[in-house]
Amino acid sequence: MLIVRGAVKDYDWGVVDGLQPWSGQTTGGPQAELWFGVHPGGPSPLVDTGGRPTGELLADLFDIEAIPLLVKLLAAARPLSVQVHPPRQLAADGWREQQASGSAAVYSDPFEKTEMLVALEEFEAFAGWRSEVEAAAILEELGISEQILAAVRHRDRATAIRGLLDASSPDRIARLAEAAQAAGLPAEQVAAYATVADHYPVDQGALVTPLLAYLALQPGQAVYVPAGVPHSYIRGIGLEVMTSSDNVIRLGLTGKPVFVDHALLALDDQLAPQFMDTRHGDLIWPVSAPFVVRMLRSGGERIPSGAYRILLLIEGTARVSSEFGEITLTPGTAAVISAQDPDSHVEADGLVAIVQSTARQTEFVHERWDVARNEY
Ligand SMILES: [Zn+2]
Repeated sequence: MLIVRGAVKDYDWGVVDGLQPWSGQTTGGPQAELWFGVHPGGPSPLVDTGGRPTGELLADLFDIEAIPLLVKLLAAARPLSVQVHPPRQLAADGWREQQASGSAAVYSDPFEKTEMLVALEEFEAFAGWRSEVEAAAILEELGISEQILAAVRHRDRATAIRGLLDASSPDRIARLAEAAQAAGLPAEQVAAYATVADHYPVDQGALVTPLLAYLALQPGQAVYVPAGVPHSYIRGIGLEVMTSSDNVIRLGLTGKPVFVDHALLALDDQLAPQFMDTRHGDLIWPVSAPFVVRMLRSGGERIPSGAYRILLLIEGTARVSSEFGEITLTPGTAAVISAQDPDSHVEADGLVAIVQSTARQTEFVHERWDVARNEY
């Protein structure tokens, strides 16, 4: 059993000092994400029982086979990019081709990124497809051409997305909220479109957002977003659990490069996000997800040996014990328990996220790793 802190990411969409309760740092700048895992994009530092860095990284001791999940705390002050994560085969093939050709860096690693967001505060997101009737109604108010509207109505996503990127203009973006209102959307969604227009007045990808469904999560509720499902997180603080990958292909609302062709390849029309109407204390286990999460409010839970787990303290205190001793977590620190560690026990007085890799995921990662073993 080891203790880690999160690696801070200061992306510009983050809340100023928004993760201070967990990062332990006041920087005066945006704190967007804290990463708990071994991904090279933000490897977590090990700390001692007093929370002081030991100088080592979790990645010095374990690789992705042992630590197949990446857990993040996320604080969004404004919308994140409209994005899609590549499914397994596309990520592996795309990465291989990219490394061989030395072309633009579209893929960050050879792995699928499948993720779930658990709201810690009220959280707003666009995720999955809005009904084509509603999407077309909003876009019609913006004077989008009949040809593009037909593609929207026939769920021809590729034609619709390409058409909307071309049809985008500052004037249309400025009228997004008005169009949403005219199409009969509720006030919170109209406000979300006003936020998009305020922050991205000249970003072509803003016009893709009417294609996406809107979701407001209350604390404890979650949304599972498999690879292939388009999404853009709008605002809020949440816990994110994902396979250990940073493969993000963007369509807009970003200063980073946009790769429309790759994004269209990654989109999977058959998949939808899963909304989980859970409360703190419930087991959150979406169908086919490679992980399971419990937000333990108070009380104890046995942590049996045999699977990778990370216990991240959100508030209060928690004691984690095994035959090797006992540690006390402070907010923003996490106990890392490998599949080989003995049974342990957690006793919480506050809120602790217990994240477990499921058996299926272990096989899944091994399979993927074989594809990419010599290339990562
Ligand atoms: Zn994402």
